[in-house]
Formats: sequence, C-alpha cells, structure tokens
Amino acid sequence: MTLHLAGNTPAGGSAGAAPAALAEQAAALNARWRHHSATDVMHAALAEVGKVALVSSFGAESVVLLHMAAVIDRATPVLFIDTEMLFTETLVYQTEVSERLGLTNVRIIRATPGDIARTDPDGTLHRHDPDACCALRKTRPLLRALAGFDGWITGRKRFQSGTRATLDFFEVEEGTGRLKINPLAHWAPEDVQTYIEENRLPRHPLVSRGYPSIGCAPCTAPVAPGDDPRAGRWRGREKTECGIHMVNGKFMRIGENQ
Ligand code: SF4
Repeated sequence: MTLHLAGNTPAGGSAGAAPAALAEQAAALNARWRHHSATDVMHAALAEVGKVALVSSFGAESVVLLHMAAVIDRATPVLFIDTEMLFTETLVYQTEVSERLGLTNVRIIRATPGDIARTDPDGTLHRHDPDACCALRKTRPLLRALAGFDGWITGRKRFQSGTRATLDFFEVEEGTGRLKINPLAHWAPEDVQTYIEENRLPRHPLVSRGYPSIGCAPCTAPVAPGDDPRAGRWRGREKTECGIHMVNGKFMRIGENQ
C-alpha cells in the first residue's frame, strides 16, 4: 500500500468543465445508469467521468465503497481526511482496511501546519466555533486535494435526510466544475449491513461500542440503541453536519458518511 500525503498543495481549480456541459453529462449518465446497481455506477464513475477520487472517512459504513473501488481498481485515488482529531481506532482501521483491500493510492489529507498555527494553535477551536474548525480541518484540505479531479464519489444516500430524498447517482457540484457521484443513493440501511456481511468486511471497532456514526473524537458520542445514528455527532450543539458538500458555490452542512 502506498500512502501519499496531500494537504500541503496550493489551492486551485478543478478540471472544471463548463456548467452546461457538466449538467448534460450528469443527465446523460443518470439516464443511462438509472436502473443499475451501485457497483455498476461505481464502474461508470471510474470509467466515464474522467479523473475521479473516492472521498472516505473510514467511518462506520465506509468499507462498502472502499471494497467496491478495490474490486474495480485498487489504484483508485482514495482521499482520507485526517483532521488530527480522529479516534485512534479510526486511524488504525484506516491502515488495516487499506491493507486488507489492497488499496494502493490512499492519500491522507490534512490542514497545513500554517493554517493550524494561525487558526487553531491550541486545538480548542472545536469547542467555541465548530464550523470554523470543520472548515479548517475538513473543507479546505479537501478542496485543495480535489483540485484537478473531474469528480468525487460519496457515500450519501436518499434515506439520510429530506434534502437527499431525490439524490441522483450523478450530480453537478455547483461552483467547482466537478461531478459528485453517489453510488449508494438508493440504498437502505439494511443494504449496507447485508453488503458488509456478505463480503465479510471488517467493521469499524467503535460500531459495536455504540457509535453508528463516527467523526472526530471531541465531537462524537455513543448513542443508545434505536436512537438516530447521528444523535451522537456534535451533541448539545445546533451543528449536525460537517460541511464538505457544495451547493450553489457554498459549502452545505452535510454528513460525514463518505
Ligand atoms: S468534527 Fe469537531 S473536531 Fe472535527 S473538524 Fe469538525 S469541529 Fe473540528
């Protein structure tokens, strides 16, 4: 397995297709793959969209897309955002899953040391301004890492919220010139569990300890059985999403289940 550090490159634009052409491309891809499986959509994303990365948190459900990518092409670029606030278990899991699946192009994305020193020198920004902390440690590093890519694959699903109820497999990411691909858009929670069991994939160790949704350690708490899986994220705060998806040129607060 090769690990690449990718967080210190300058910000820049993406491959950047014109908006009209991109919308046409997304519409054509959706029409063609509408009734196909998640695996077929993943194939299409990697074969037909251009330079595409899988963005993964190596969280509770991430292993599904990581496995699909590994089966199709082990050299698929996988972007892992290390906020330097993650659980140790996540870091260990990331290494173990990457090795087990044979992924050869996992890129670890971090905020630059300069940005950390300027914005969060004592590591407490998450306590008083979690939005700024997520922007520093997740959004900006990911934006830099995605420069030059034509699209990125996410784990978003229709069932996760009202705003995702009409989620398509292929969508235009407003303001970046990229496509976003959601192979699991139509999956239900049971589909995720079935896929993991049938393929005997390793689970994140915190899932069995009450963490169905796993983000940074200071901002994630266990939830009671039957509770909303995301109830343990930013508990006690209004914040519910991490903010790495763009709509109309702005970052929207949408969850971490990449
Ligand atoms: S989840 Fe918490 S610690 Fe992680 S980047 Fe966001 S605010 Fe910071």
